[in-house]
Amino acid sequence: MRTSEIAKRFLDYFQGQGHLVQPSASLISPDPSILFTIAGMVPFIPYLMGEQTPPSPRMASNQKCVRTLDIDEVGKTTRHGTFFQMLGNFSFGDYFKEEAIHYAWTLLTTPQSEGGYGFDPEKLWVTTYTDDEEARSIWRNEGFDPEHMQVFGMEDNFWTTGGPGPGGPCSEIYVDRGSQFGKDGGPAADDNRFIEIWNLVFESFQVDNVKSPTDLHIAGELEHKNIDTGAGLERLAYLLQGKQNIYETDEVFPVIQAAGKISGHEYGQDEEADVRLRVVADHVRSALMIMSDGVRPSNVGRGYVLRRLLRRTVRSMRMLGVDEPVLPLLFPVSKEAMAPSYPELNSTFREVSEAAYGEEDAFRRTLVKGTTILDMAVSKAKAAQDSTVSGEDAFTLHDTYGFPIELTLEMAQEQGVKVDEAKFRELMQEQKSRARADALQKRHNVDLSVYDDMKKELTQPIEFLGYTDFTSRSR
Ligand code: ATP
Ligand code: MG
Ligand code: MG
Ligand code: MG
Repeated sequence: MRTSEIAKRFLDYFQGQGHLVQPSASLISPDPSILFTIAGMVPFIPYLMGEQTPPSPRMASNQKCVRTLDIDEVGKTTRHGTFFQMLGNFSFGDYFKEEAIHYAWTLLTTPQSEGGYGFDPEKLWVTTYTDDEEARSIWRNEGFDPEHMQVFGMEDNFWTTGGPGPGGPCSEIYVDRGSQFGKDGGPAADDNRFIEIWNLVFESFQVDNVKSPTDLHIAGELEHKNIDTGAGLERLAYLLQGKQNIYETDEVFPVIQAAGKISGHEYGQDEEADVRLRVVADHVRSALMIMSDGVRPSNVGRGYVLRRLLRRTVRSMRMLGVDEPVLPLLFPVSKEAMAPSYPELNSTFREVSEAAYGEEDAFRRTLVKGTTILDMAVSKAKAAQDSTVSGEDAFTLHDTYGFPIELTLEMAQEQGVKVDEAKFRELMQEQKSRARADALQKRHNVDLSVYDDMKKELTQPIEFLGYTDFTSRSR
């Protein structure tokens, strides 16, 4: 089953259950407090919060998402992309837990010949939130095996956007890939073997002051109880296509193949090279999709995320041994793989690809400049009979010339010298702390130290005299 067919089945099923199907919103989050659209619910926040009336109390979508939070997982786990598509069904004060659980269970277990996904019920597991006995009893009434149910706390089973907004307890559905992929014991024991595919969120609270997943404040109940679900399309695809991870699915794998061919690394031969090929395929697709929604490389916000994705692609290809421009070879492949689902890519491609290739050229010039500086640092290290490039030089290369440490390490190694990586990390850490202190200062926007003297003088508690004393004083 192709990825597009899996999406179609989802939307058809929910349309059949009275849901209005909504096209994907832009990756540029319609909610200004979030940089990118991180979940299917983002465009629907005003409906969930009761601030706007939805066109239908039941809706469904296949939403383009970007999660930069997951960037370090890409290529290493089987299930994290920076770009992915989230299928979802939503109820705005209409149905609640019982129907949401029933719909998900039905679609997952209905045979493929009858329009479902045909998962073996024996392979499915669910998790619920500690306090949510109601959800557990609904799952049991659906006939779900109680031995395949696990209970988790706030961190895993209470969903929020990570900021103020709607939130609530959730129930997550997992697929067991089999004992060859890890330990027994359900999702609690092994997240490589047990893959989370679908999160059913029972959105009923207004959440604010989110410091961490377990440290947040519930401001009150929402006007009505809502359902917000999110199923990872690429995760369903890799499981249903019998692949090992999301990067091997039909919309992503062509780029792995192209990158493998260009670099002479056959995919599946060497784990380190495979991770790089997967990073390349993921980042090329994310960059393409982000740019198609209008973002261009820059040094701030979304543009900076995009710049990092493009540079990491170029860098990863260099690590695979390719020095020539790579984006002109990879972007068209990703476009061809994605355009059947997103025909607008055909009309945006010319402009998008030109901007991407321009960015690669600029980065290549950076690399050239950095290489000269690195060569000088290497000569210095050799002349001083010290075979180590200093942490300061590595830091300058990173900070001024945008030269990633991995590249410095590899190129230094080629020339037979080491790099003082510990010192480099220390300098990076110092810079990070400075940036954090700066950001804090800026966030508060005012310099509160001007009140310090006043605070010292005011040692007595202040009594409010406004109502009794105001007229006499102003006289
Ligand atoms: P995980 O625990 O695996 O990181 P999550 O709990 O962060 O996933 P949710 O926020 O519940 O994910 O999002 C709903 C669904 O979207 C998940 O069940 C999963 O199928 C999918 N999903 C989430 N993050 C990604 C990602 N980075 N790449 C691909 N699919 C994802
Ligand atoms: Mg996650
Ligand atoms: Mg999870
Ligand atoms: Mg989840």
